[in-house]
Amino acid sequence: MAPREPLCSLLPLWLQLLGLSLGLGLGLAVASRPGVVVLLADDLGYGDLGCFGHPSSFTPNLDRLAASGRRFSDFYSAASVCSPSRAALLTGRYPTRSGIFPGVFYPGSKGGLPLNETTVAELLKQQGYVTAMVGKWHLGYGLNGIYLPIHHGFDEFLGVPYSHDQGPCQNLTCFPPDTKCYGKCDQGVVLLPLIRNNTVVQQPVSFPKLTAQYDRFARDFILRAAQQQKPFFLYYASHHTHYPQFASADFTRKSMRGPLGDALLEFDGSVGQILKALRDAGVENNTLIFFTSDNGPELMRRSRGGNAGLLKCGKGTTYEGGMREPAIAYWPGQIAPGVTHELASTLDILPTIASLTGAKLPRVKLDGYDMGDILFNNGKSKRDTMFYYPVSASKKLGVFAVRKGRYKAHYYTQGSTHSDSTPDHDCHWDSFLTPHDPPLLFDLEADPSENYPLSSSDIPNYSWIINQIHEEKLIFEQEMEFGESQIEKGVDPNLEPCINAGCRPRPTCCVKT
Ligand code: MG
Repeated sequence: MAPREPLCSLLPLWLQLLGLSLGLGLGLAVASRPGVVVLLADDLGYGDLGCFGHPSSFTPNLDRLAASGRRFSDFYSAASVCSPSRAALLTGRYPTRSGIFPGVFYPGSKGGLPLNETTVAELLKQQGYVTAMVGKWHLGYGLNGIYLPIHHGFDEFLGVPYSHDQGPCQNLTCFPPDTKCYGKCDQGVVLLPLIRNNTVVQQPVSFPKLTAQYDRFARDFILRAAQQQKPFFLYYASHHTHYPQFASADFTRKSMRGPLGDALLEFDGSVGQILKALRDAGVENNTLIFFTSDNGPELMRRSRGGNAGLLKCGKGTTYEGGMREPAIAYWPGQIAPGVTHELASTLDILPTIASLTGAKLPRVKLDGYDMGDILFNNGKSKRDTMFYYPVSASKKLGVFAVRKGRYKAHYYTQGSTHSDSTPDHDCHWDSFLTPHDPPLLFDLEADPSENYPLSSSDIPNYSWIINQIHEEKLIFEQEMEFGESQIEKGVDPNLEPCINAGCRPRPTCCVKT
């Protein structure tokens, strides 16, 4: 079923005209088509938010979205690390199709999200939307920034093209000013650049001031769009709560959870700023906000790395903790408050937004489904399977696990350095690749922690679901066309973003203080 009409279009014409002439909030008018805001946290685990059960997190704004919107209990990213997960969110396709494997992009990566992939921003631009991205991109920089967001459908961009640990962060200032950031990060590459559209405007970035800049950018964009009565799409991809943890003065030492809690608190502050901007622009009731995280927590950082709650393992694995994420959809007056246990994924964001805005779907194989029934009709999900590729996805091994309904079958399991330091040895790097035939089968509704595989003596009773899963896997893998790996194209240090174009010696000359 189609979503209900946006509230403003249900208003009598005279009232809409009155609203336009008198203005709302800061004297701004309401565009008739809905605004769309996608908020993405980084490496935030299933158990990291108070509204998902964490006892000492403080996130009043996210909690408000959860209380007044639809909270998802069974929402998945399409990968357990940053780059492929983000590719899936923006394209509605498994990242194997777009070639975003194995692993993630580096500052000098030659490849990026291929320019012939269609992002949700490009779909919305065709619908007359203004589009902006702020924060962490991590889908490639390439030669002279050819893969940046402005080449993927975003009118404006302010942010860092990759993870903020992919530069020598010990040279960066954290708060208080005399404190070095915790940890060493990557060495031998350029200092972290801040990019506006296609230009490096700061190198290194100032961590204590970064979020405030992002929030101002987001607010200006929303207010401008409302003033021009243009529908808008904002993709706000925060660096929080990826390692190394940082926060500005307003948030440092303010949480109960130490550096990660401070970073999370600052992210929540940004959510509050965006809500305020929407309210001030008079468009809060005409905007869909969708919040989630790109992948599970980096458990190798111990308590600085996040928490997967009751789920097994975290980042880098195909256990639930690697790919099952907190998610919230919020749209006052349109999405009824509550919790859904339906299966959904970041892959579904593009088809859902397309359906909502009347945008035409790209003519390529999509892996997402319209979530309209879940959001607007409290109905059933069109999705009943989820396929889990490992970080080093390959045609040879195929998917590592499949969820169908309440059951999940692991064909392979493997630990990851990203999930080291948990008490569970299955998560560690030295839990090597292990095939399972028959697959390890879990009932995720009875056992969401994947603690108790249905034993071999139980299996005869479950052969029907194993057969069904096997059939789905076969069909899926037969239809899967792997794109050319963009990450295996390798790196060229000369491609790294630099504020002093053509300077030598790199990377040390790429700095402006
Ligand atoms: Mg991440």
